[in-house]
Amino acid sequence: MARQDLLALTPDDLIALSNRGIVKRAQREVEAGEAGAEVSEDADGNVMARWPDGAACRISPREKLSDGCCTCAATAVCRHLIGTILGYQAQTSKSKDAPTAAESWDPGAIPDEALSSWWTAKQLALLRQQFDAGMVVELHRGARPGARLHSIAHSLRFLVPGDPRYTRCDCAEQAPCKHVPLAIWAFRLLAKGRD
Ligand SMILES: [Zn+2]
Ligand SMILES: [Zn+2]
Repeated sequence: MARQDLLALTPDDLIALSNRGIVKRAQREVEAGEAGAEVSEDADGNVMARWPDGAACRISPREKLSDGCCTCAATAVCRHLIGTILGYQAQTSKSKDAPTAAESWDPGAIPDEALSSWWTAKQLALLRQQFDAGMVVELHRGARPGARLHSIAHSLRFLVPGDPRYTRCDCAEQAPCKHVPLAIWAFRLLAKGRD
């Protein structure tokens, strides 16, 4: 079972999750064949890599992508994780598991069960209150749908279809931040024509 979430991430998505310098460097290394890490995937879909500098990455299909997925000292998504994802994509693109071109999708289709994996019931209840109190939200459909939450001056993008973990918001929280459920609910209203 290939990790469709990791395969769906484009270089621009990876820049959104880390930064341009990290992605450019990792791309150069992969292209030069000097990836530096052996990337493997186990039967449960964990993608793992061990780096020459001692760092070890483990990207679980059931956890969010964060600095906690790598053993190095970085406090954000680091070059090891980006290198691991690029290395995984390079390995997998040789097989027929590679995904097709991205199509437009609706974040409103992400079910509440998926939200409860990443936010507590209490957090969601507070956010729901905030949402129901009324918000001005501007939504963009597409392969990378986006929401601009005018009321609280934040905007975010969804990077991987159906997966709230891979989001890029301009707030300071690690992805997925608390603005993601707000955006998902707004997309649901749009789907019902209640915008
Ligand atoms: Zn690292
Ligand atoms: Zn946010």
